[in-house]
Amino acid sequence: MARRFIAATTIPEAIEAVEKLRKQRLEFSVDRLGEAVLSEKEAREYQERYLQLIEVLNATVAGWAEDERLDRDQAGRIPRLNVSLKLSSLYSQFDPLDPEPTSRAVRQRLRAILSLARKHGAFINVDMEQYAYKDVTLRIFREVLEEPEFRDWSDVGIAIQAYLKDSARDLEELARWVEERGAAVWVRLVKGAYWDYETIIAQQNDWPSPVFETKAQTDANFEKLSEFLIEHHRKLRPAIASHNIRSIAHALAAARERGLAREALEFQVLYGMARPIQRALLQLGQRVRVYTPMGELLPGMAYLVRRLLENTSNESFLRAGFLEHVPEEMLLMNPVELIKPVKQKKQADEFRNEPLADFSREAARQAMSDTLAVVAKHLGESHPLVINGQRVQTEGIIESRNPSHRDQVVGRVARATQDHALRAIEAAKIAFVSWRRISADDRAALLFRAAQIMRRRRFELAAWEVHETAKQWREADADVAEAIDYCSYYGRQMLRLARPIRSDVPGEDNEYLYIPRGVTVTIAPWNFPLAILCGMTVAAVVTGNTVVMKPAEQSPVIGAKLMEMLEEAGLPPGVVNYLPGIGDQIGPVLVNHPDVATIAFTGSRAVGLEIQRQASNTPRDQQHVKRVITEMGGKNAIIIDEDADLDEAVHGVVASAFGYAGQKCSACSRAIVLDSVYDTFVNRLIEATGSLKIGPAEDPGAFVGPVIDEEARQRVLHFIEIGKTEARLAYAGDVSRLAQEGWYVAPHVFVDVPETATIAQEEIFGPVLSVMRCANLDEALRIANGTPYALTGGIYSRSPANIERIRSEFIVGNLYINRKITGALVERQPFGGFKLSGVGSKAGGPDYLQQFMQPRTITENTLRRGFAPSADAGVEGAGQ
Ligand code: FAD
Ligand code: NAD
Repeated sequence: MARRFIAATTIPEAIEAVEKLRKQRLEFSVDRLGEAVLSEKEAREYQERYLQLIEVLNATVAGWAEDERLDRDQAGRIPRLNVSLKLSSLYSQFDPLDPEPTSRAVRQRLRAILSLARKHGAFINVDMEQYAYKDVTLRIFREVLEEPEFRDWSDVGIAIQAYLKDSARDLEELARWVEERGAAVWVRLVKGAYWDYETIIAQQNDWPSPVFETKAQTDANFEKLSEFLIEHHRKLRPAIASHNIRSIAHALAAARERGLAREALEFQVLYGMARPIQRALLQLGQRVRVYTPMGELLPGMAYLVRRLLENTSNESFLRAGFLEHVPEEMLLMNPVELIKPVKQKKQADEFRNEPLADFSREAARQAMSDTLAVVAKHLGESHPLVINGQRVQTEGIIESRNPSHRDQVVGRVARATQDHALRAIEAAKIAFVSWRRISADDRAALLFRAAQIMRRRRFELAAWEVHETAKQWREADADVAEAIDYCSYYGRQMLRLARPIRSDVPGEDNEYLYIPRGVTVTIAPWNFPLAILCGMTVAAVVTGNTVVMKPAEQSPVIGAKLMEMLEEAGLPPGVVNYLPGIGDQIGPVLVNHPDVATIAFTGSRAVGLEIQRQASNTPRDQQHVKRVITEMGGKNAIIIDEDADLDEAVHGVVASAFGYAGQKCSACSRAIVLDSVYDTFVNRLIEATGSLKIGPAEDPGAFVGPVIDEEARQRVLHFIEIGKTEARLAYAGDVSRLAQEGWYVAPHVFVDVPETATIAQEEIFGPVLSVMRCANLDEALRIANGTPYALTGGIYSRSPANIERIRSEFIVGNLYINRKITGALVERQPFGGFKLSGVGSKAGGPDYLQQFMQPRTITENTLRRGFAPSADAGVEGAGQ
C-alpha cells in the first residue's frame, strides 16, 4: 500500500522515479519523508538529507535533453529540480509560541539548502503543515527571502491551504509583501491535508475551528483563491494542487477568461493519485507536477495516513467520482450552491473546560508579554493577612522570590503566627453560623462570579505565576484555566448535590441531603499555585463550609490574589481567611485545633501522613472525627512497549518528565522500556532531552526553568549524587551559565536503573528521569506497580491486547494510554491517586464535593390514622 504513494526508499530509486516521470512528460517535486524531529541531531540529519538529495538529483537532471514544454514557460526557464520541504523538521524546538528564535534557528539551516538550490538552479517549495505552525512558517518564508542573498530569487514557493478561514487574508498579505520585495514567488494552492486533525484539536481545546466546517466552503474558497492567484499571477505564480475535476476545471476556465498564457498556470498532483486526471491535463497541454515523496515507511507513516484518510474520506472527490460514481452534474456543481449552515452542539449551561490560551496566535502572545511587563512593575508589594475581612499586618514577613532570578522579590507577604492561626479559626467558626444557611444557589453563584473575575484577569494571574513560581507561559496559563474550571465545575456540582434525593413511599417521606461539615483548613503546595489552592478552597466554600486558607510559603502572592478575587466576587468576611505562613509553625495549630472539622491538604507524603496522624488525635473538647483529605506525591512511570510509536513515546516522556522541571506530582520519573526498543528509545530520548532549552520562565522559548527554591535545588542535586552510585548517568544538561541567576537544575537521565534504587523509588520532584530495561510486559508491570505510590501512569503501545492488560493491571489513579501523563483537566480527567499518593478522592470529579459534607437522611411518617397525603392525588384514603 505504501509503495503506491511513496515513490522511492533510496536515492537510486528516487533517481529512477524522477526519470520515469520525465519520460511521461511530467514535472516533479521531491519530498523527503520523516517529519517528526525530536532533537537537534535529527534536525541536522533532515537538513543533511536535503543537501544530499539536491546534489544527487541535480547531477541527474543536468544530463537530461532539453524539452521546450517541460523546461520553459512564458516567463523563462523552469527549474528541472524541484524540492518540497517542511520547516518544522529543521528545528527540534520549533514553537509558534516563540516565533523569533524559531525563525532564526530554522533560517540558519534553511539558508544552506536555499543557497545550494540556487547555485544549482533548483526550486524550493515550502509545504504547509498544521495551523498552529502556519503563521510562523509564513514568517520564516518571508524573512529568509528578504535576505540579500535571496531577495531577487523567484524559484521558491509556499503552499496555502484553502480550508483555512485565514487563507484569503494570508494570500492578500503575501501579495502585498511580494509587491515590496519585487521578485515573484510561487503559491501552491491546496485545500489542506490536516482537516481531521485541526477539527479534533479545536474541539479538544474548545478553540474556534481554524478550518471551514463543510467541504463545500473549502471548495468555494479554493475557487475564490484560484481566481485571486490568477489575477495576481505575475507576483504570485499559481500552482493549482488538486485532484478535484471541478476545482481544476474552474481554475482552467478562470485562467482562460482572464487571457492567461497556458504555461502560466501549473497543476500539481500527488504521486500515485488521480492518474486519469494527470493524463487529461497533459492532453490539454497543461504542465503537471507530481509531488513525489521518498523515504522509509516508518518515518513516512504520517504522510501515508494523510493519503489514506484523503482517499477514503466520505468527502473526497476521488472517492465520489471514481468509486461511488456520483453523477457528473453533482460532482461539477458550483460549491457555493452546496453550502449549508452548521449546527452548534453544546448547551450554554453545561460545564466546559476553560479553553487554554492559543499562543500560536499573535494576539495571545502579545497580551501575555504586555501583561508580564505590567505585573513586573508590581513586584515587591506587601500583602497582609486577611482575617474576618480585616487586613492584618504581621511582624515577620515571607519574602517571596522569583526562582528564575533569585534576587528579585516578588512580594513581601505577612507571616502568620500561631496566634493569628487561632484568630483565623475563630473567625471561620463564627462565619460558619451564617454561611451554612446561605442557599446552594447563592454559593454556586459566588463561584461563577469568581470564575468570571479570573477570566478577566487571566493573563495577569498567569504573569504572577511566571514571576513567583517560574511557570512557563503555557503552564501558567493552564493553571489559571484549571482554577476557573474548579469554580465553574464545583458550582455546577453543588447545584446537583443540593437537590435532596427522595425515596418516598405511601405514608413515609424520605429525604437524603448533605450538610456542611464546618471549619475547613486548606493547605496547598506551590506547584499549581492557583489551581490547587483555589480548588480545595472553593470546594469547601460552595458546600457551605468556612475556610482558613494556607498557601505554600513559596507562592503566597498568588494566594493573596485569590483572596482578593474571592472578596470581589462577594464573599462575606470570615468565610475565607487568608493565612500565609510557615507550614511547620502554624500547620500543627490548624491541624490540631478542636474546632476544625476538615483538613484538605495537597503536598508531600511526609507532611500529609503527619497531618493524618495529628488529626486522628481527638482532644476532650472536640466533638467530631476530623475528615482529612490528603493528596500526596507520586513516582510515576510510563511503559514503552515493543511496538510503541517512538516519535510519540519520546515526545510524551520528555514532556511528562521535564515539563515544569519535573515539579508535578503527575510527572514521569520512571520510563520502563521493553528490551527490544530500549537502545533506540534511550538514544532518541537523550538527544531530545539535550535539545531542550533551559532558561528563565518569562522566556517563551525556554522549556525547562529553575526549580522552586534553593532547598529544592539541594534536594534534587542530592538525589542526582545518589543516582550516580546506583545507575549510569547517561545525560546531564548544563546550567552553569544560569547558576548565579536562579535555582536551576539541568535535566538528568539515568539509564539501566535497578527497580529498587532510591532514584527509582523516592519522589525527587525535579528534572530527573530513571530509565529501566525490562524483558517483557509482565516485568514492566511489576516494576511499574512496585512503588508505594499510585498516582499517574502511562503506556505507549499499539497492541490492543497489551493496552487492555495495562488498563486492568497498571494500578494508578490516572492512567494515560498513548499520551503524556501530565495535564489532567477538570471533569475530563478527575485527578488523584491512592496507596501513598492520597486518599483516592478525585479533584475535579463527581465525588469530590461530598468529602466536605455529611449526608443526612430525614424520614417522616405521614400516615395519620389511616390517611396519608399523596404527592399527586391530594389526600388518599388508606382504607374504608
Ligand atoms: P477534494 O476531495 O475535493 O477535497 C478534499 C479536501 O477538502 C480535504 O483534504 C480537506 O482539505 C477538505 N475537506 C474535506 N472535508 C471537509 C469539511 N467537512 N469541511 C471543510 N473542508 C473539508 N496539503 C497540505 O496541507 N499542505 C501541503 O503542503 C500540501 N501539499 C500538496 C502538494 C500537492 C502537489 C498536492 C496535490 C496536495 C498537497 N496537499 C497539501 C494535500 C492537499 O491538501 C490534499 O491533497 C487536498 O486537500 C485534497 O484536495 P482535492 O481537491 O484533491 O480533493
Ligand atoms: P509540602 O508538603 O512541603 O508543603 C505543602 C503544604 O504543607 C505547604 O503549604 C506547607 O506550608 C504545608 N506544611 C508544611 N509542613 C506542615 C505541617 N507540619 N503541618 C501542616 N502543613 C504543613 O509540599 P510542597 O513542596 O509544597 O509540594 C510538593 C509536593 O506536593 C510533592 O510531593 C507533590 O507530589 C505533591 N503534590 C501532590 C498533588 C496531588 O494532587 N496529589 C498535587 C500537587 C503536589
